[in-house]
Amino acid sequence: MVKNKQFTVEFAAKALLKRGVISEEQCKNIILKGSDQKARLQKLQDTAHPRHLHRQQCPILPAEVISSFNIEIPGKEGRILTEDAITQVIADETGVEYRKIDPLKLNLDIVTSYVSRPFAMRYLVIPVDEKDGIVTLAIADPFNLEPVESLENARKIKVKIVLSSKSDIIKIVREFFGFRMSVEGAEAEASSIFELGSLEQYVNLKGQGEIEATDQHIINAVEYLLHYAFDQRASDIHIEPKKEKAFVRLRIDGILHYIHTIPKIIHAPIISRIKMLSRMDIAEKRRPQDGRIKTNYNGKDIEIRVSTLPVAFGEKVVIRIFDPEVLLQDIDHLGFYPREFQLYNSFIRRPNGIILVTGPTGSGKTTTLYSTLRALASPDVNIITIEEPIEMIVEEFNQVGVQPAINVTFANILRTILRQDPDIIMVGEIRDKETAENAVQSALTGHLVLSTLHTNDAPSSVTRLLDIGVPAFLLSSTVIGIVAQRLVRKICPYCKKEGALTEEETDHLQLVKKPYKIYYGEGCLECRGTGYRGRTGIFEVMEFTDKLKRLLNDKAELSTIYDAAKADGMVNLRQTAIKKMLEGITTYEEVISVTG
Ligand SMILES: [Zn+2]
Repeated sequence: MVKNKQFTVEFAAKALLKRGVISEEQCKNIILKGSDQKARLQKLQDTAHPRHLHRQQCPILPAEVISSFNIEIPGKEGRILTEDAITQVIADETGVEYRKIDPLKLNLDIVTSYVSRPFAMRYLVIPVDEKDGIVTLAIADPFNLEPVESLENARKIKVKIVLSSKSDIIKIVREFFGFRMSVEGAEAEASSIFELGSLEQYVNLKGQGEIEATDQHIINAVEYLLHYAFDQRASDIHIEPKKEKAFVRLRIDGILHYIHTIPKIIHAPIISRIKMLSRMDIAEKRRPQDGRIKTNYNGKDIEIRVSTLPVAFGEKVVIRIFDPEVLLQDIDHLGFYPREFQLYNSFIRRPNGIILVTGPTGSGKTTTLYSTLRALASPDVNIITIEEPIEMIVEEFNQVGVQPAINVTFANILRTILRQDPDIIMVGEIRDKETAENAVQSALTGHLVLSTLHTNDAPSSVTRLLDIGVPAFLLSSTVIGIVAQRLVRKICPYCKKEGALTEEETDHLQLVKKPYKIYYGEGCLECRGTGYRGRTGIFEVMEFTDKLKRLLNDKAELSTIYDAAKADGMVNLRQTAIKKMLEGITTYEEVISVTG
């Protein structure tokens, strides 16, 4: 430990230079502009979080100042020097162990029981672990050990320190203290209601809603929960009532993680608050409901869909978070290979006809359709979507939600919207004959229709439509092409390692026997140990050529249609997935599980 030294921008910049992370020129520049930048950041922090809200302000630290310059690392094209990377160098320089804080691995009690929120905020100190009587404290300033020592003395504890970035520490302080304080506040209020004398009767009368959903603590708890989920890139929040408690879990990259246990007494008011936000009927607790919330986080619009379900111990809520950056992408970023992309692009530029996207739930069909519609959207075309329910609200489209309860169905919306003079129609799903017939009608009357089907591959979509009852001659005169798709997880770029395909695996994939180089993710903090980060699409694109139309009219077997499509150059899902595996984008396991 370096004693009696000041933690300055200059110190950090020189440590970076010493390790060759930045150039001499960059180092000089940082030192020159450091103090001005620090003052600017201080001002920003003060306006973003006014003093009266936080009482204590936290210091602006060197790593934060340097990372705010967005310095490009020499020799690493395009890579920007991050606060984490700078913090690691500082840890190395000062001999303190570096720790990247993973909030999912923290224990709420340990984090919040040794320090108060103002203390944690002011000194940027947070307990992250406790083992064998030693408390591990994450700190952000390796030269200011006063708070650590005072904690040691006041709490009579042994401590070990690790260095973490200020952003990591602040995130933990906000989420953990915020949620904990709200839950405890609400619980205390609820208990005081219980102590109001003739208890039994009172509780019976008011039932589970003792605390109002408008209680400030409840409002805060829900807000913290949502922000925490946004920060963690979660796609879903599950709140599940059990007999005596309720559990909160988050789904991140497809996997559920346990987050919090909340006292049963505040489960109902939390659910009520969420129902209120999503405009559901709060009094209705016996029937499932759907609702939505539109909110904004860090300057980004976020769409949230909420659904409730009465289960044995109360209402279970699932909150689905839609990231517009995932649902609305550039179509050339969806994962198409050039040949398939060209073909698909030619489909969607036609003035009329039907394009079908097929695959199971969660295969990315909605992303493909939304991204396609957005690519086609312009002031001179009228796009109407019919969905159940509306996945995400997009201003460029005119979206209609199906409501079977009041007999607003795919089929009868389709009939009426033709009077709305649409150019392009998206039908969420073709499930029945009536919808299929209306879709065909719309295509015959000069509209471009996009829809989805629940089939495994492109050729079997044809037989599905025939089974539904659409005559072959109508199909062959309207369908332009069919796209089958799946999503495969991408290997995490931070822990990607080289491997080889075994002989059995080679056989299993029916590949020519020879050595194949493949890749996998070892698991790291960036990917939460899963080895994967993000997903990409694999596509099988079948053009409805004259040859296929003739086969269809002659009532050919599915296998004949399949062979003909292959002869026309169609690459199937498995082949596309293998290609992505050999290119190091995904793994053997993903190929098997997704196209197995
Ligand atoms: Zn990783």
